[in-house]
Amino acid sequence: MTIKTELEAALARRGLDLDTCDDRALLCALTAALREVEKGLPPAGGGRKVYYFSAEFLLGRLLRANLINLGLLEETEALLAAHGRSLAQVEDQEPEPSLGNGGLGRLAACFLDSIASLGLKGDGVGLNYHYGLFRQRLDTGRQVEEADPWLAPESWLLDTGVAFQVPFGDFILTARMYDIEVPGYRNGVCNRLHLFDVEHPAPAPAEGIDFDPTDIPGRLTSFLYPDDSTEAGRLLRLYQEYFMASAGAQLILKELEEGGHSLQELDRWAAVHINDTHPSLVIPELIRLLTERGVDLERAIYLVERTCAYTNHTILAEALEKWPAASLERVVPHLMPILRALDQRAKGHSSDPRTAIWDGEDLIHMAHLDIHYSSKVNGVAELHTEILKNTELRPFYQLYPEKFTNKTNGITFRRWLMGCNEPLSALVTEAIGPDWQRDAGRLEDLLERQGDAAFLERLRAVKGENKRTLARWLRERQGVIVDPESVLDIQIKRLHQYKRQQMNALYAIWKYLRIKEGHTPPRPVTMVFGAKAAPAYTLAKDTIHLLLCLSRIIRSDPQVSPWLNLVMVENYNVTAAEHLVPACDVSEQISLASKEASGTGNMKLMANGAVTLGTLDGANVEISRLVGEGNLYLFGRSADEVISLYQTGGYRSSDYWQKPEVGELVDFLLSPHMLAVGDVESLTRLYKDFLAKDYFMALLDLEDYIAVKEKCLTDYEDRPAWSEKMLVNIARSGFFSSDRTIAEYNRDIWHLDEPGR
Ligand SMILES: *Cc1c(COP(=O)(O)O)cnc(C)c1O
Repeated sequence: MTIKTELEAALARRGLDLDTCDDRALLCALTAALREVEKGLPPAGGGRKVYYFSAEFLLGRLLRANLINLGLLEETEALLAAHGRSLAQVEDQEPEPSLGNGGLGRLAACFLDSIASLGLKGDGVGLNYHYGLFRQRLDTGRQVEEADPWLAPESWLLDTGVAFQVPFGDFILTARMYDIEVPGYRNGVCNRLHLFDVEHPAPAPAEGIDFDPTDIPGRLTSFLYPDDSTEAGRLLRLYQEYFMASAGAQLILKELEEGGHSLQELDRWAAVHINDTHPSLVIPELIRLLTERGVDLERAIYLVERTCAYTNHTILAEALEKWPAASLERVVPHLMPILRALDQRAKGHSSDPRTAIWDGEDLIHMAHLDIHYSSKVNGVAELHTEILKNTELRPFYQLYPEKFTNKTNGITFRRWLMGCNEPLSALVTEAIGPDWQRDAGRLEDLLERQGDAAFLERLRAVKGENKRTLARWLRERQGVIVDPESVLDIQIKRLHQYKRQQMNALYAIWKYLRIKEGHTPPRPVTMVFGAKAAPAYTLAKDTIHLLLCLSRIIRSDPQVSPWLNLVMVENYNVTAAEHLVPACDVSEQISLASKEASGTGNMKLMANGAVTLGTLDGANVEISRLVGEGNLYLFGRSADEVISLYQTGGYRSSDYWQKPEVGELVDFLLSPHMLAVGDVESLTRLYKDFLAKDYFMALLDLEDYIAVKEKCLTDYEDRPAWSEKMLVNIARSGFFSSDRTIAEYNRDIWHLDEPGR
C-alpha cells in the first residue's frame, strides 16, 4: 500500500484526477489517503497509559506533520510534482485547527507528537471547539475578533461513535468523542487525541464572537476561553471543564475495564496528566466514579493521587483558577461531598491556610486541589520550578518536597525545523548526516563547523533565502513590503504586559526619534510583531493599537522609512509562526524576569538560527547556559531583584519617567504626532499606566534594553562573527527537543513501562 495508490483511490472515489482537480479537492483526497494509511497503524503498546488532559491543543496544520511522521513527505512531494502540483499550495488550503491559545496549547501538541514518536502509550484528552479562540483581523488600528470556524466537512476529525453521559446540576449532556490521529515519527505507531463535543452544537454567531453563554447545550464547545468578564461566561467555562474532566474520566475507566483490569488497579494502568488547572475536576470526578462503583472513599483517593500529576504553567496570580463554591454547587452539586472530603483531609495534613483547597472566602483553589492529590507537581523550566518551590508554592514544597520536579519544556523539531525550514534542514543533513532527525541532541555535531568560513557563508545564505521567502509571504498575505536585506527583529507571542511588547514599542519610538535626528543605523531594521490580545484585556488591545499607530507613522515618514519598518502580522497562529521562525535574525524574549514560566517560542527561534535578545527569565536561563554569554544578548534585572522589588514595593515607574531619556519616549504617546493617527482614549490609558503603575516594570529595564539592542544590531554587521552565533544556537538547541522533555516525564512521573509502581 503506497501513498500513490491511496491517493488515486481517494481521487477516484470523488471522480477526480490529480492533473486537473483544484488544490482544495486535492487536500481532501490527501487527507483521506493519509487517514487510510493511519487506519492500519496500531497505537503504542505497553503497560501503563498516559492520558494527557488539556483545555488546549494548538496543533497547527496537520498535513505536512503527518507526512513527515509517516515517512511519506518526499514520496508525496515527488508524486505531486510529477503532475505539476505543489504540496505548499495544497497545504495553503488547510485550515489550522483552532484549539489553542498560546504556548501551553502548543506544548500539549508537541507533547502528543513526542509521546507517539517515542512509542509511548498515551492519548490526549480535550474539547472540540468549533470556532476556536478567535480569528484576529487588524482593522483601522484595532484588533477585531471573529469566529474561526476550522472544521471542514473533510477534516482530520474521526467520529468514533463513542459517547458518555455527563451529569450537571440541571441536566445531562451527551459527550461525543471525536479523534485526531497522532502518528509517531517513522515508528509505525499511531496514538490519538480525543476531543469531546456536545451532540447539537450551535451555529457560528452572526457576527464577531458574541453569543448567549447561558445556552450550555448549544454553546459548550463553541469557543475556547469564553469571555469571563461576566458571571454567565465564567459558568460556561466551568461547564466546559467538567464536561472534559467527566468524559475523559469515563473513558479511562472504560479502557481499564476493556483491558480486563479491576478498578482497584487504576494507578497501575493509567497515568492522568493535568496540564494547568483547567482539567483539575478530573480528580474528584474519578473519585466519584470509583466510589459509585463500590471502591471505598479512602482507597479511591489513594488510587487517584497515585494516578494524577499536575503541571503548573504560571505564577501570575490572576491565572491560578479559583471557583466560588456556589458556582461549583450549581454546576456540579454531586461533586461537592467529595470536594468537602478532600478539603477536610488536606486540612488534616496542613493547617496552613495558604494550602487550603476551600478557603475562608468560599473559594476553591484548583491548583491546591491538584497539588494535594497528585503524585507529582512540575514547573516548566529550572527558574520557574525554583520560584514555585521558594516563593509561590513554598508552603506546599515544605509539605510535599518529594512531589516537586522540574521538566523544562521542549518543542518537536519535526515541525519546528524539518517541517518549517527545509533549506536549513537540508544544509544540516549535508553537514552532519541525518541522525539529528531522530535525535536532536546530535545537532551538536554542527559545532565542528565553527570557524569553517565556507559553511558559515552557506548558513547565512539559507537565512537570506528564508527572509526573501517571508517577504513574499507577507506581501501576498497582507500587502506589506519588507526589505529582506534588513535585520529581522521578531517578537511573536500572545500579547501580555508581562511579555512587554510595550517596552519594545518604546524602543521603536526611541529608534524613530534617533533616525529623525540623523543617526541612521548601519542597516535597515524590520521590527515584526505577531500577537493576539484576549478580548477583555484592554491594555493589551491598547498596545496593539500603539504598535499599529507606530507602524503608520514610521512608514509615512520618508526620512525614517528607508531605515525602520514595523510590521504587525495579522492573526498570529502556528501557520504564521512556521513562516516567521525560519527568517528571524533577532529573537525578542524580553519578559520581566520571573514572569515567563518557560517560553517555547525562544526555543523554536534559536533552533532556526536566531540569536536571542532577552532577560534571564524562563528557559532563557537554560539557553544562556547552553550557548554561552557570547552567543546571546542579555539585559535587565534578575528574577531575584524583581521578586524583591515586588516584596518591598520598591518600584515606582514615575522615578524612571522623570529621567529625560525615558520620559521623552513615554510622552511621545500623547504627542501631536501620535494623536493625529491614534485614539486619544487608548493612548492616554497606556500613558497613564506607564506613569502610575507599570506593574510589569517596562520602564525599569528600558534603558538597558535599548543599549543592549543597539549593541546587538551593531554586532550583526560583523557577518562572520554573527554566523558563528547562529551556528552555536542551532547546535545547542537539541536539548529543547520535546522528545527529551517527554522522556523525562516518563522517567520521573509516568513510568509507563512499569505498571504497578
Ligand atoms: C510557540 C508558540 C507560542 C508560544 O510562544 P512564547 O514566545 O513561548 O510565548 C504561542 N503561539 C504560537 C502560535 C506558537 O507557535
